[in-house]
Amino acid sequence: MARLEGKTALITGAGSGIGRETCLLFAREGAEIVAVDINLETAQETAAAARELGINATYAKADVSKAADCERMVRHAEETFNKLDILFNNAGIMHGEDEDAVNTDEAIWDLTMAINLKGVWLGCKYGIPALRRAGGGSIINTASFVALMGAATPQIAYTASKGGVLAMTRELSVVHARENIRVNALCPAGVWTDALVEWRASQPDPEQVDDYLNRLHALGYCPEPAEIAVAAAFLCSDEARFMTGAIVPISGGSECGYKL
Ligand code: NAD
Repeated sequence: MARLEGKTALITGAGSGIGRETCLLFAREGAEIVAVDINLETAQETAAAARELGINATYAKADVSKAADCERMVRHAEETFNKLDILFNNAGIMHGEDEDAVNTDEAIWDLTMAINLKGVWLGCKYGIPALRRAGGGSIINTASFVALMGAATPQIAYTASKGGVLAMTRELSVVHARENIRVNALCPAGVWTDALVEWRASQPDPEQVDDYLNRLHALGYCPEPAEIAVAAAFLCSDEARFMTGAIVPISGGSECGYKL
């Protein structure tokens, strides 16, 4: 039997990369999908691709840094499917001008924090009451390996935002455990998505980035987003019922040591 049969999942950042692949995998596992993105067209495309897999899927446009949008996306999920069981707070940005502490502009810091950190909180602020109404559920937050070891390439705002996601995940997991709500975090390293391709292009020497990425992953390559989606599917399935507050690296061993 499909592992997510009967469950309704809301995924942010669903228009691209990890979010899109997770929507499609969740759909293959039997879940009803609410694909949310700041980009309406790509959210719509992901929902259409999920429907082609034979499940019910809808979409919503939301900027996760805006409270009203997060409230609306959750309301849309409940109005469409009568409940919400899974919340994947995945939307995030890696800004090309996010640099070291000295050279990063305040506006880049504020934007990164608003989407990557406040966005996770807002997802929970409106998502948790919906999970309660469903009798419990599962939250997954996308963090990053940089929250475990710091980034060699400086991205001060991104690293700080993802550290905050891990701290929030731990607190949420304890506070909501007795409500049958599990909260876990994923820590990918590099993943070949639009975010990484754009960030690579913004670097002074993109070919040096390729070398860095290959060395970064002990397993020797930078993965595709589908290789991250499998961990999300496991964490919100009933097989992971005793996992909460887990910080799950899915990073090819990146944080274990640097391969020379
Ligand atoms: P991506 O750029 O392919 O997808 C991100 C999606 O989020 C896009 O569709 C974008 O439109 C959407 N988005 C951006 N801002 C938004 C907002 N304010 N509200 C709603 N949606 C918004 O990137 P990805 O690599 O799939 O990133 C997904 C998550 O994975 C992010 O949190 C990112 O930080 C994290 N991550 C990525 C990597 C990597 O190397 N790609 C590594 C570690 C962690």
